[in-house]
Amino acid sequence: MIDSHCHVDDSDFDADREAVIARARAAGVSRFLAIGSGDGPPDLEAGIRLAERYSDFVATVGVHPHKASVADAETFSRLPGLCQHPKVVALGEIGLDYHYDFAPRDTQHDVFVRQMDVAREAGLPIIIHSREAWDDTFSLLEKHWPAGLGGIFHCFSGGVDEMRRAVSLGFSLGFGGVLTYPKATNVHEAAREAPAEKLLLETDCPYLAPVPFRGKRNEPAYVQHTAARLAELRGVTLSEIDQLTTANFARLFPRAALKGTA
Ligand SMILES: [Zn+2]
Repeated sequence: MIDSHCHVDDSDFDADREAVIARARAAGVSRFLAIGSGDGPPDLEAGIRLAERYSDFVATVGVHPHKASVADAETFSRLPGLCQHPKVVALGEIGLDYHYDFAPRDTQHDVFVRQMDVAREAGLPIIIHSREAWDDTFSLLEKHWPAGLGGIFHCFSGGVDEMRRAVSLGFSLGFGGVLTYPKATNVHEAAREAPAEKLLLETDCPYLAPVPFRGKRNEPAYVQHTAARLAELRGVTLSEIDQLTTANFARLFPRAALKGTA
């Protein structure tokens, strides 16, 4: 199984990071995508540090929309070089967050678009964070993100309509703990209807733990609970979901397999 979106760098894991990773491996997690947003610029290497330390980690680099206001000229001059790191497989998470609006929306747009430019130049997929900002996210992607390079709508929390729009733009869908929440019926429906080749699993840990750990600290081992719910929704076995999502990840990030062996 693959945790396609985790924040194992988070200080929530400082006391027991090694044990958390060991538990995930014991639970069958064979690959971790460490999201490199960290606490924001000037540090851009939160994911890279993990990927350099653990052979089964690959990483992203990128400025989270919450931190768009602190991205400066130095950030944009360093990102292209970091994309060349042998274990960096995507740019992210990038996008728009209108729930918190920690950065002015104009700034969020600008930083999102500029990072799409960096990703396009590097030939890397992008990891999208979009919260209460569907229309603007889609219209910026339509304008600035060429078909073919793809990426992931992480922590997918839309319904069938948003799923279809994301898929039509070439995106895969990262399903996390929200899928296990009984009231998330729109997300259940999207997960049932989505094309099989677009399904991915993630935790977004330490946030959004799946049932039965909802409200507690999330960790990569819990991805199995989301996998089980996805299998149930689609009427297939857990092992089929495991194989499918693992193959989907490998196809989206062809460099991840090679890089993971470093
Ligand atoms: Zn995240």
